Amino acid sequence: CAAASVPAQPLENADALIDSVETFIFDCDGVIWKGDSLIEGVPETLELLRSKGKRLVFVTNNSTKSRKQYGKKFETLGLSVNEEEIFASSFAAAAYLQSIDFPKDKKIYVIGEEGILIELGLAGFSYLGGPEDGGKKIELKPGFLMEHDKDVGAVVVGFDRYFNYYKVQYGTLCVRENPGCLFLATNRDAVTHLTDAQEWAGGGSMVGALVGSTQREPLTVGKPSTFMMDYLANKFGISKSQICMVGDRLDTDILFGQNGGCKTLLVLSGVTSLSMLQNPNNSIQPDFYTNKISDFLTLKAA
Ligand code: PLP
Ligand code: CA
Repeated sequence: CAAASVPAQPLENADALIDSVETFIFDCDGVIWKGDSLIEGVPETLELLRSKGKRLVFVTNNSTKSRKQYGKKFETLGLSVNEEEIFASSFAAAAYLQSIDFPKDKKIYVIGEEGILIELGLAGFSYLGGPEDGGKKIELKPGFLMEHDKDVGAVVVGFDRYFNYYKVQYGTLCVRENPGCLFLATNRDAVTHLTDAQEWAGGGSMVGALVGSTQREPLTVGKPSTFMMDYLANKFGISKSQICMVGDRLDTDILFGQNGGCKTLLVLSGVTSLSMLQNPNNSIQPDFYTNKISDFLTLKAA
């Protein structure tokens, strides 16, 4: 990527950055909240940006919830955010299938949690699978054949705490026995911070199982893919050069912004430390970095 060789600059003049764009896209976990805790200074920062007439958009790769469920989470944290401003990778899967006119008489096999099912349902698609699917040991007797629905035209894989072998085999049959079957990943985050005590295997681990068995690469609809960025730019009629993408993760958020030709700001309030950013092996450099978004309230021109 073109910006890779230019080291990120510490953000010194937040006003100049704010004035240079009309839209801020915020990643959620690590920027707005950490797990279920609001990050310090976020309400005041969002208020400041709104008072300056900036459009705010929130994009999360966590596919376990729907937009409506995220709306509730924002509300619970005391943030007034409209559902229309929230874009989760669960919604991205449904929006992508709509964008390609995925036939409504075909079905979608889902490896993932409720958020994906809700968004597919709202978009009018028929699905099967989901968290409750399988789970029992598969008893293999001679000649045993696992059946699968031949009307499945797409397999969507996201983070799934109920992941099991039945789901892998079912999704594998759908993809391998029907070369026309779409293979979508909501996101491929390697690890995630479900608790702050350790790292946990992320959605990329479930996707990786299906990549291993199908030998196919999925189309990712969440960050860093360009699908969501194009969708947002289109929906709001914004030029990507007028967007600043703010995130805590280099290989999803910052790459998402760079792939879209946006300005990028890394915050150190999530998974990336300053030493990770400055590690010579890291080639993804945002335009700017700062500790947390509430630095917008204090970093003024000298
Ligand atoms: N996937 C899962 C399962 C998560 O728990 C998280 C963060 O909590 C993410 C992805 C990353 O979310 P975000 O894009 O908001 O950082
Ligand atoms: Ca994040």
